[in-house]
Amino acid sequence: MRQRAGGPEGNDVTGFSPRFSAGGRGAASQQAQAGRSPVLDVAQVEVLRSYGSEHEMAAGDVLFADGDVTYDLIVLLAGQARIVERRGQPGETVIATYGRSQFLGEIGLLTGQRAYLSAVASTAGRVLRVPVDQVRVVMAQETGLSELILRTFLLRHSILTGRGSGLTLIGSRFDAGTRRLLEALARNRLASTWLELEGSPEAEGMLRELDVPVGDLPIVVVPGGPLLRNPGSRELLEALGMSGPSDTELSGVCDLLVVGAGPGGLAAAVYGASDGMATVLAEDTALGGQAGTSSRIENYLGFPAGLSGEELAARAALQAQKFGVRIKLGSKAVSLASDSGVHRISFDDGDAITAKSVIIATGARYNRLPLDRLAEFEGVGVYYAATQMEAQACRAGPVAIVGGGNSAGQAALFLSRSSAQVDIIIRGKTLEASMSRYLIDQIERNPRITVTPRTQVTALLGKEQLEGVELLDTGRQRRSVLAVRGLFVFIGAQPSTQWLAGQLAEDTRGFLLTGSNIPQAHLDDRDQVPLFLETSRPGIFAVGDVRSGSVKRAATAIGEGSMAVRLVFERLQATGSAVADPPRADGEGRSAPLAMTPGQTGQTR
Ligand SMILES: Cc1cc2nc3c(=O)[nH]c(=O)nc-3n(C[C@H](O)[C@H](O)[C@H](O)COP(=O)(O)OP(=O)(O)OC[C@H]3O[C@@H](n4cnc5c(N)ncnc54)[C@H](O)[C@@H]3O)c2cc1C
Repeated sequence: MRQRAGGPEGNDVTGFSPRFSAGGRGAASQQAQAGRSPVLDVAQVEVLRSYGSEHEMAAGDVLFADGDVTYDLIVLLAGQARIVERRGQPGETVIATYGRSQFLGEIGLLTGQRAYLSAVASTAGRVLRVPVDQVRVVMAQETGLSELILRTFLLRHSILTGRGSGLTLIGSRFDAGTRRLLEALARNRLASTWLELEGSPEAEGMLRELDVPVGDLPIVVVPGGPLLRNPGSRELLEALGMSGPSDTELSGVCDLLVVGAGPGGLAAAVYGASDGMATVLAEDTALGGQAGTSSRIENYLGFPAGLSGEELAARAALQAQKFGVRIKLGSKAVSLASDSGVHRISFDDGDAITAKSVIIATGARYNRLPLDRLAEFEGVGVYYAATQMEAQACRAGPVAIVGGGNSAGQAALFLSRSSAQVDIIIRGKTLEASMSRYLIDQIERNPRITVTPRTQVTALLGKEQLEGVELLDTGRQRRSVLAVRGLFVFIGAQPSTQWLAGQLAEDTRGFLLTGSNIPQAHLDDRDQVPLFLETSRPGIFAVGDVRSGSVKRAATAIGEGSMAVRLVFERLQATGSAVADPPRADGEGRSAPLAMTPGQTGQTR
């Protein structure tokens, strides 16, 4: 048990708990509350009991505290507990109250994120504590329970994100560092609040309190943790406990290095590790890639009600952990060198990983509009993703979306839930040529969405924040102004291949060529016929959006990622590097995990 704390007095601001909040509620609201505060049945508690241990608690005991590097899954066997924000500080608030057979926690418990809220016993009672490594076993082995826990954690996380709980970023909208951090927070789906330096008495007060000069901005305040001054991605993730293994743990030669953790990279890593390869997955920004920023993927097989990018990323990350993938987060690959069939990839944090085979799944980056003042508004009015964080930033004001593809359509539908007016601006005459029919049908039925054809955005307007955009009707050559709080840009993407410095064969747009599409003259080894998905260098494969000719879809990336693993085995066998059987078409032939080979460091060139 932890130390006692003075019990905070406050209201249940989210109404998490159906049992302990006063006042009558409708059936729908009760159902929603049951989703975020489920009551475990006797059998479920019994299952969890076999993974944890029981402890008495006294009123005022702190069950976990903000800043704790990790915390247990806590099930209340008797008594009540409160989830408290800013415990012991001005503005202390009770977020939720839980009672018997309910469990505490949110998705950060599974992603390894440092706790940013505290749990305090409000009465005496008894708890079951399940340590986080055992929770991972539960998630891998107890199907029904793992589904319930995951859904509850995701729902709670989404409510906390909507409230702006968690980290506090203080910085100026005109500062590139602030915008970079805003992107990192959004891509990692970290619950946070941004206090703008300009005109925010709260920001000024906090800087005085923390004794931080304006020159040190932007800063990130981690509840109960360190104060970070203009941190890089890795430093931020390290402070939150989410960056993965350090370089010393990654020494030696691994069987498979996957670069990029979008759907393609996650699939490759999960299949690689589950087929017995020592697998490392390295990612620059956040697990989930572009798909992680999608508000709702509706055409993904098996999820008729759609699935959010956040859920897809969370589920895949759990699978990767289950099969023992080593995830290195916040590390950007900056160069590739190969020698004698061994590949060495260096990262911007100074680490280097040597691998027998590499799968490149670095996807693509969004195209930007050629507009003056774009950099001034990126991340603070101009966005390349539409998630709850961006919707919250637009504060229900009108928004415009540029682009006519499926991502633009999904963004429009999502944003219409919070904004009364959503304009889709397209250069063409209709959406038919570029968007799936199911999205067009929903857009046509939605009274909050307007499609403006044959139009381009020509300027961004506003003094301190985006207030509007100038439009050009290209048919009538007429200009007009549209008042908007946010501009969402979905106009295609460029492949993330610059770090390869042209070593692998590319098409004219920079996407990686694979298999029979590679001209013979561009092959590194003309005696080796490249396998499907293999690049011009034997042993290096490309999957998903980064690959020339791939269909730019989550399911395609996942399919290619999993297929590439079999091809990796084939190549390793052909070169005599494999020490395990490849997975066979009938699903048999699983092999023991290949060990990382300490001390083997490939020569580079
Ligand atoms: C808003 C939105 C909605 C979408 N909706 C749908 C949909 O409904 N259905 C559908 O099928 N598809 C949808 N898509 C498309 C789908 O998300 C992509 O096709 C898919 O994510 C491609 O997966 P990927 O793994 O190839 O690449 P990505 O998802 O782009 O992932 C690449 C990853 O590599 C990382 N990376 C890049 N360079 C480096 C480097 N040098 N070092 C380390 N890491 C690096 C990136 O940070 C990124 O995380 C949507 C896309 C967007 C943006």
